[in-house]
Amino acid sequence: IQWEAQVRRSAQIRRTGGAAVLVTGAAGFVGSHVSLALNKRGDGVVGLDNFNAYYDPSLKRARAALLAQRGVFVVAGDVNDDRLLGKLFDVVPFTHVMHLAAQAGVRYAMENPSSYVQSNVAGLVAMLEACKSANPQPAVVWASSSSVYGLNEKVPFSETDQTDRPASLYAATKKAGEEIAHSYNHIYGLSITGLRFFTVYGPWGRPDMAYFSFTRSILQGKPITVYRGKDRPELARDFTFIDDIVRGCLAALDTAGESTGSGGRKRGAAPYRIYNLGNTRPVTVPALVEILERHLGRKAKKNIVEMPGNGDVPFTHANISSAQLDFGYKPSTDLETGLWKFVRWYLSYYGYQRGGYIP
Ligand code: NAD
Repeated sequence: IQWEAQVRRSAQIRRTGGAAVLVTGAAGFVGSHVSLALNKRGDGVVGLDNFNAYYDPSLKRARAALLAQRGVFVVAGDVNDDRLLGKLFDVVPFTHVMHLAAQAGVRYAMENPSSYVQSNVAGLVAMLEACKSANPQPAVVWASSSSVYGLNEKVPFSETDQTDRPASLYAATKKAGEEIAHSYNHIYGLSITGLRFFTVYGPWGRPDMAYFSFTRSILQGKPITVYRGKDRPELARDFTFIDDIVRGCLAALDTAGESTGSGGRKRGAAPYRIYNLGNTRPVTVPALVEILERHLGRKAKKNIVEMPGNGDVPFTHANISSAQLDFGYKPSTDLETGLWKFVRWYLSYYGYQRGGYIP
């Protein structure tokens, strides 16, 4: 009963025309930011996260605590738990599901492949099953990934490009997710929007990502490993700041039921849409390191090695014109500014400014 009351309170909408949103992966990097933004504008938000230990769970708990302070409740549970999902949909008539729970990271797939299938394939199916049976049926917005473009060489990447060369199991599970989502749209008339995020970074970010681990190592005086591509000298990524991604997610959610536009399907039917959310300005990894060195006021010790075949792709670059056209997506933060915000957060979160504590 107390659980139910907490869920109900968290789902309360505080603006006219507002949404009631179930956010999965809400204790994660993107999920926590999206949940805060939805709550701030008066939407009802309930989070769901299994708080797994892929990276420091204390960071996930800290994000969830921040959400709790704003009145957003994060239910501890797995998206594969269909009884739990059924209970949540019984308690709240969610208008939208923002499905961000996943096993992220490209390299860890070589260590623990089944966790990717479990969370990204089976977990997505469990969520779509719950959505299709819910009354009303929520519109689903979910995170795919730029990694589906795999080893494509034509840049920038457009949604209509082939995605038949995944370079990692992670990419393959996201690609499978897109096909699965499409089938649920076709068979059950679920409205579905997939968002292909391009290397998201920012405050409260993921410790397994390069910009985060580089920052930690530079501050600790430890060497960092920078990959050099086989054919191209340097790897490049279309780094996209979290605030831009959040704005894109909310705009995609607001237009989720609409069935027109370049990424959409014919008028009248529930839409199946897919969009790139990137920054359109790829930056090489050495250039990223240089910005970090400047912001941190320290030089990195660089170990430059040839990229091992571990799932990384040489470069990513988004064409974002579909998202721009359909819901006005327009990233506005350059890497210099975004990393400055990240570094400021990092130093204060880990207590550097108060006495030099090194995690
Ligand atoms: P994250 O790991 O910080 O967040 C994912 C959250 O989902 C975690 O808190 C985790 O505990 C939770 N989770 C995982 N499996 C679960 C399960 N079975 N049941 C319940 N909760 C589960 O990652 P993120 O960077 O915030 O990524 C969010 C989404 O965006 C993911 O789907 C990811 O694949 C996708 N994505 C992220 C990036 C990026 O650069 N950050 C790029 C492309 C795509």
